[in-house]
Amino acid sequence: MTPNLRQLWRNIVIVILALSFVSLIFSFLLEDGGARAEELTMNQVVDRVNGGAVQKITVQGNSLSIDLVGGGKATAQKEREVGLTETLVNYGVKPDALAKVALSVEDEGGWNYWLGILVPTILPIILIVILFSWMLRSARAGASQAFSFGKATIRLVAPSKDRITFKDVAGLKEAKEEMEEVVDFLKNPKKFLSMGARIPRGVLLMGHPGTGKTLLARAVAGESNVPFFHLSASEFVEMFVGVGASRVRDLFQNAKKAAPSIVFIDEIDAVGRERGTGMGGGHDEREQTLNQILVEMDGFERETNVIVMAATNRADILDSALLRPGRFDRRVVLDMPDIQDREAILKIHAKEKPLAKDVNLNQIAVRTPGFSGADLANLMNEAAILAARNGKKEIVQLDVLNSIEKVLLGPARRSRVITPHEKRVTAYHEAGHALVAASLADADPVHKVSIVSRGMAGGYTIKLPLEERRLRTKKQFLTDLAVSFGGYVAELLTFGDITTGSSNDISQATELAHRLVTQYGMNETLGPRSFGKQNDLIFLGREITSGKDYSEEVGAKIDAEVNRLIVNAVALAKKILTRQKRTLKSIAEHLIEKETIEYEEFNALMKTAKLKPMTIS
Ligand code: ADP
Ligand code: MG
Ligand code: ZN
Repeated sequence: MTPNLRQLWRNIVIVILALSFVSLIFSFLLEDGGARAEELTMNQVVDRVNGGAVQKITVQGNSLSIDLVGGGKATAQKEREVGLTETLVNYGVKPDALAKVALSVEDEGGWNYWLGILVPTILPIILIVILFSWMLRSARAGASQAFSFGKATIRLVAPSKDRITFKDVAGLKEAKEEMEEVVDFLKNPKKFLSMGARIPRGVLLMGHPGTGKTLLARAVAGESNVPFFHLSASEFVEMFVGVGASRVRDLFQNAKKAAPSIVFIDEIDAVGRERGTGMGGGHDEREQTLNQILVEMDGFERETNVIVMAATNRADILDSALLRPGRFDRRVVLDMPDIQDREAILKIHAKEKPLAKDVNLNQIAVRTPGFSGADLANLMNEAAILAARNGKKEIVQLDVLNSIEKVLLGPARRSRVITPHEKRVTAYHEAGHALVAASLADADPVHKVSIVSRGMAGGYTIKLPLEERRLRTKKQFLTDLAVSFGGYVAELLTFGDITTGSSNDISQATELAHRLVTQYGMNETLGPRSFGKQNDLIFLGREITSGKDYSEEVGAKIDAEVNRLIVNAVALAKKILTRQKRTLKSIAEHLIEKETIEYEEFNALMKTAKLKPMTIS
């Protein structure tokens, strides 16, 4: 049910309740004393008069109220237009009996009389009219809400006390410089215009989720003292057809009126994905909205002092029309934070938290490669929660370290019931990963092995690179492949059987092997060629239209190459673990006993095993 319909129903129920309440009240009012006053027919009245049981009759219009001898009361109705005495006589009352009864006639036009007539008839009408007009009004308000979507959710950011500035954004040096320029443009447009420079139209912020795109845009709003119109493109998609375009029109109209100003469209990929791919049934709303954005941006004059900013984490699927000159021609990439940035981000999010002296944010930064800014913010929050839950006054280093795994893999599930056998299998599985990693020179050092179940994983092995790397080598990839089969092979060697616990390892390894062959040219028979559109996995719509760019024969060769990589990786893992069966056992037994092995302990175990890491040839 839509909210409007629900509201209508609620109103109807209220009206019905109110009406029954009113009628209840009237039934009480009209039956005033109904319990005591008996309703008599004229015949009965006459009988009582003849019997001498009546003391007094009061006439009011056609109603008689009768005081009986001995205190009782009764009512009766006489015929219209006929006097009381006449009626009584007509019914055969005895004149001498009537003489004993006091008759009094009350004025019909009295206040009471009119009230008696008006209240029961007019009051309900008035009530109904009031209720219906109220219902109508709220229904109309609901309808106009639906029709004024165009204006409803554009947020104009007003400068507030807790405004975000560039100081709150760590790292992102180039992006911040670019944004500072934008702010400068808006503050001193003359400076740039007099040099003949064209004010940039659109700035596109691109980066992985959580790298701080929205944050940076909000910082721009905080820095520039110009109106900042903010809306999220994903909101368009859920609206009626045509509303998105009208909302865009509104937005730009307001922005132009308020110039100099900034329009920020968050998550523009929701409307800006490549058109004409037939994805999502050719979502008309999306296309119309996108077209309207383009039309508005083209309609800017040279002097128009409105800068359009947009954010996306899917620049690969954006419609090329958005990226043409004069539109989003400035593109700013927000990188995942490197080790220094991570420390800086951690510092920002540690600011309002009580940290113990032993907290070393640099060590945390070392241990969190691949974490985005959002992950790091979340990490500090989890650490604070952990400390608070343990009733501590300060956050200690261990709180932060323990939160890393929580952010990485989900909360620990110590309560999950596993049988002793499952525990053994998991222990050997993780020991297998760890031992293969420790045996290969190109593998990242093992930081932690654990069989505490987290999120979906039964256990986990954390390996961390010694240094930040942008480029990865074929040898490293082959090592990764062997390590991912370490668990599978360890189970096979130890128990002569395999479990479903390896399914995730297998699918990841297969995907990696496929990428090595089809994207990185790391294969032996096919050479340095890319196969298939790079983003066909990401965006289904394109694959449908473009199809494979290789023959069936080549497809078979790709399969063979992927297979070969996997077979070799399994063989390598098997070779290592067969040779090191004793070490595998000692790691696994350790895990069964303690559940978790930390870095130092693991290194000590490896020392006693006299392991000599080898390189893949
Ligand atoms: P995006 O829009 O790129 O997905 P957000 O801007 O919403 O990411 O970032 C989410 C949160 O992560 C921010 O609110 C902030 O707390 C934190 N964050 C991300 N990047 C940074 C950064 N560079 N400096 C400080 N905090 C950051
Ligand atoms: Mg965002
Ligand atoms: Zn595994």
